Amino acid sequence: MWILLLLVSIAAVSAEPLTFYGDKVFRVVPQTYEHVELLKSIAGLTKLDFWVPDSVTLLEEGKAADFRAAYDVAYDVQALIAQSGMPFEVMIDDVQKAIDNQLNSNVRSVHSYEQYNELENIYAWTANIAAQNPNLVTRSQIGTSFEGRPIYLLKVGKAGANKNAIFIDCGFHAREWITPAFCQWFVKEAVNSYGSDPEFTNLLNNLDFYVLPVLNVDGYVYTWTNDRMWRKTRSLNKNTPCVGTDPNRNFAAGWGTNGATSSPCSEVYCGTIPESESETRALGDFIRSNLPAIKSYLTIHSYSQMLLFPYSYTHKLANDYDELFTLAEGAVNALSSLYGTQYTYGPGGKTIYLSSGGSDDWAYDTGVKYSFTFELRDTGKYGFILPESEIVETCEETMLAVKYIANHVLNNA
Ligand SMILES: [Zn+2]
Repeated sequence: MWILLLLVSIAAVSAEPLTFYGDKVFRVVPQTYEHVELLKSIAGLTKLDFWVPDSVTLLEEGKAADFRAAYDVAYDVQALIAQSGMPFEVMIDDVQKAIDNQLNSNVRSVHSYEQYNELENIYAWTANIAAQNPNLVTRSQIGTSFEGRPIYLLKVGKAGANKNAIFIDCGFHAREWITPAFCQWFVKEAVNSYGSDPEFTNLLNNLDFYVLPVLNVDGYVYTWTNDRMWRKTRSLNKNTPCVGTDPNRNFAAGWGTNGATSSPCSEVYCGTIPESESETRALGDFIRSNLPAIKSYLTIHSYSQMLLFPYSYTHKLANDYDELFTLAEGAVNALSSLYGTQYTYGPGGKTIYLSSGGSDDWAYDTGVKYSFTFELRDTGKYGFILPESEIVETCEETMLAVKYIANHVLNNA
């Protein structure tokens, strides 16, 4: 018996999440080549956790960057930046305090659309909402994660022949907690609106929505149990203790080139081959086997408040650039109309920076014309640690953009 107790207590200790007391998030705007080199050399000496862009290797002169510095180096990092004359501000003074304050919803229950839900409760919710709405929602499992967890997909729409479909996924990057919240919200809105809201009813009668609430299930669990700041998958890499692949560098779209690395310790590690991850492979297989019904692919990330479309792996313009640009503009205007939230939009490579292996570019090149990446709230005040009190507004405004795109798909695809 005592052995069992010992094992249980060891398990409990090892599951204690990392803390971030005194860690700071800085925003810097490197003005010169020297500023960029300084940041790279600091990052070479101590681990900086880049929030925007995704990796220190993507830094560019004149573009703002946000990163987290650990408590024991934060003051030295700040001194070096200040000394260089580089403009900077402290976005988050104490990351742990922000984490402690993120679960600030007025609602607290096993599952709620207004709180961040643990994976087990999202799983149960997928089963429940399908069971309660058999004419509108069906659940399937499209794959299994590296650690053996099911990857569930909800098909939302009224049964009908030859329907076109829109695929929406959330939870690519583990720490972007607002995104699974959006996917859950979308399904709730669909179920509640059917038969009462003419616009959404029409969409559900004539389109199917495939909603994947959490793609990177292992990483998402890990952000709850071990490290709130985890980003990648949790697959083991050969000959290194570094874990995980960036799922959004893991697709066959300029794979392994700009904005990705073949170093497993990097946050933008592209993996050994395209779709090396069980999770990305499951997604790829599903979309391939459901072409040509799938006309639109929407992948939900955070943060930055952007709506991006192909390409990200090249500066080349997409063949459908004009239509995608106009559609993005309309979607962003719809989004902003509710609370005035400002979004930027455009092709990923020109709007932020070149990055290869993204699922949106891959979907587009595979034949899914209306392919977009959302970067939800905010613009860095809380970053990945967006408090629950912003879930409702974020989801409401994002719904307007998604419905705008869906109507365009319905009328044009
Ligand atoms: Zn992301």
